[in-house]
Amino acid sequence: MNQEQSQSWFTRAQNIIPGGVNSPVRAFNAVEGTPPFIVSAEGAHMIDEDGHRYIDLIGSWGPMIVGHAHPEVVEAIHQTAMTGTSFGAPTKAEVLFAEELCAAHPVLDMVRLCSSGTESTMHAIRLARGYTQRDVIVKIDGCYHGAHDAVLVEAGSGVATFAKPGSAGIPSAIAELTRTAPFNDLEVIKQHLETNEVAAVILEAVPGNMGCIVPQSAYLQGLSALCKEHGTLLIVDEVMTGFRLAKGGACERLQIDADLVTLGKIVGGGLPLAAFGGRREIMECLSPLGSVYQAGTLSGNPLAVAAGRATLNLLGDHVYTELEEKAVRIEEGILPLTERFPISFARVGSMFTLFFRDQAPQNFDQVKECDFALFGSFHRKMLEKGVYFPPSQYEAVFLSNALHEQDIQQIIDGVHEVIEALFAT
Ligand SMILES: *Cc1c(COP(=O)(O)O)cnc(C)c1O
Repeated sequence: MNQEQSQSWFTRAQNIIPGGVNSPVRAFNAVEGTPPFIVSAEGAHMIDEDGHRYIDLIGSWGPMIVGHAHPEVVEAIHQTAMTGTSFGAPTKAEVLFAEELCAAHPVLDMVRLCSSGTESTMHAIRLARGYTQRDVIVKIDGCYHGAHDAVLVEAGSGVATFAKPGSAGIPSAIAELTRTAPFNDLEVIKQHLETNEVAAVILEAVPGNMGCIVPQSAYLQGLSALCKEHGTLLIVDEVMTGFRLAKGGACERLQIDADLVTLGKIVGGGLPLAAFGGRREIMECLSPLGSVYQAGTLSGNPLAVAAGRATLNLLGDHVYTELEEKAVRIEEGILPLTERFPISFARVGSMFTLFFRDQAPQNFDQVKECDFALFGSFHRKMLEKGVYFPPSQYEAVFLSNALHEQDIQQIIDGVHEVIEALFAT
């Protein structure tokens, strides 16, 4: 595949932006090769600097659920931009948007807007600590909640011990306030909660950041019961699953009784916007009402609110039915391969991962057993066939409803050809 233009921009980028990218996964380190530099996108397709056209299975890591450059979203941004792009003062649209979010999500009595998923989980954790007057939080191994200190941690060596910093620059004193537990397991969580020191458990109810993991049904119900028993808040991070698995996210789809939720990605319609919210009594602890401080210059930004509202307005019930049908078509197309080769397919709604492991993983340790080299070859060969999978085994595919029947067929045919060829050698 000719990548002359992308290669030359990547070289130039590496001189001026660390690693050439503004967010690490874009550098393609996990799959080797040059990341395509994107010129434009429309519907379910992206075009790069060398003129290659891809079926986009990332959708900007989730937000583009109605497809790229949807005319109604573009129009809303355009109209709003003509009336000013930021005021640092309240607007009517923020109120309408907040009402729409609370009507859509079962956990939200009140909501506060911010600008990124990272901020939303950082503030939700501070709020939980302020409300419970406890310092410790529990995080699930392999779940991702953004790039801030409390959640950028790794499991310690013992089962129920302190977490270790997940990056240089994070003090161990901070990491040690976070405890970790494996996904789909209540035993370790129980040990943590029994200390009665835990402010909150935060998790992705359907993890997408270690590849897509299917939660066991007893797990989420048991978790919420344990949290109640010990005065610990349950924070469901719906930055990825909110408005993706249902309008009310994973909490609606899987009937989870949470105290706080965080939203991002889809709610911004492709612009930088996120939110956190939950039970009124907890949310009223936020400044200026309460003593937990939180703020943001561009929070509730008019352009982002307009893009978010226009996107949510397009998400009628039929969209979820259609997305489910498209995802099932792809699943049925790929499943026969999982019987012949040591690969597995995990899906919830319109998010899925093809794992290079015989059985679909149940937790992060099992994801680590995948054949990452083979995944890298798979990714490169799919890209050559014009299908842009997420460039890491630790990521999930996010379908957009702009995907057409012929795209679906191209994906299935491509996966068959590539998998057959990979295991033939
Ligand atoms: C993407 C993501 C985040 C971080 O959001 P940013 O906008 O990248 O800061 C947090 N939690 C989950 C579950 C995510 O998928």
